[in-house]
Amino acid sequence: MNSSFEAFREAVADERRRRSVLWREGRPWHVLSSLQFERGDLTHLFQTADRLRTIEAEPNGATRLLGLLAGRRVVNLFGQPSTRTCESFVAAEEKLGASARVLSDLKATSFSKGESVEDGVRTLACFYDLIVARHPDDDFALRASWALDRSERPVPVISAGSGRSEHPTQALLDIYTLHHRWRGEVDGRRIHLVGDIGRNRAARSFAHLLTRFSGISLDITCHPDWAPEPAFVATLRAGGVEVAFHDRLEPALDRGPDAIYLTRLQQEWDQAPAELGTDERYVLREELRERIPSTCLILHPLPRVNELPESWEDHPGLAIWHQVRNGVWVRAALLTWIFGLTA
Ligand code: ASP
Repeated sequence: MNSSFEAFREAVADERRRRSVLWREGRPWHVLSSLQFERGDLTHLFQTADRLRTIEAEPNGATRLLGLLAGRRVVNLFGQPSTRTCESFVAAEEKLGASARVLSDLKATSFSKGESVEDGVRTLACFYDLIVARHPDDDFALRASWALDRSERPVPVISAGSGRSEHPTQALLDIYTLHHRWRGEVDGRRIHLVGDIGRNRAARSFAHLLTRFSGISLDITCHPDWAPEPAFVATLRAGGVEVAFHDRLEPALDRGPDAIYLTRLQQEWDQAPAELGTDERYVLREELRERIPSTCLILHPLPRVNELPESWEDHPGLAIWHQVRNGVWVRAALLTWIFGLTA
């Protein structure tokens, strides 16, 4: 057990020690970073997700799934807005028979009276078997995990979005979507990431997970003000990802990406933005269509503002609705794995 929070943070950041603090008995316990998953873990998770969705389609399958987490109680603490992540966690929990409580108004909790993260989550752990947490503070889920590990009732914590830094379950469902669409052949692909990569936790966790594959080339198109910090790029390069930066879409599109991953400008972090949306250099404009073959996948973690116009709905590579549906099954697979259940 780690004595101080700083020691815990360092262990989570350290490639060699991360597993010893976030995994138990060969299974994920806390889920705080996409980097805590190795290639073999992804294979296992994706097979479980496939198995769960197959079971649901069988006669009595939905009823069988209900038995998996029957009697377990999950609290989904959402301190920032969410549609897909929150609802797909709830759907996954309910499909597996757990009870799913959503606490989305933190002003209505004792956190607003100044209660510490430690006391708040230890209280929740008295009533629930798992805490799913989204919070604007990068460290909320990390601190919650640390505090619970030191308590007499340690329950797992899953980050559903940590500030600007991590969104591990979004990354898992994004890679699961690529894995499905490419029939398992993710190695050797060229991927084009577009937008506010410095502040977009979904894009960051996704890029990190690309290090689990070999021969990946990553083109990042972003305004210099939104560029990720050097340490982030260094982690990608150390993980074998070839990274190139561009300030417009065209040069990266001309390199023939296998997938484009667009993101929204993260204006919630700005002081009173004038209007929502990004400038047209980072918008997938209609005139770019001839540069994007039907085999190229188009992903977005959603919500979208103006960067991916609805006119792309008829592009055969558009995978955004698959991402949303896949999110339920990846999260369900993660829940069964954490609790050590086999479907
Ligand atoms: N839904 C994702 C997130 O919560 C992406 C976004 O909001 O842009 O990070």
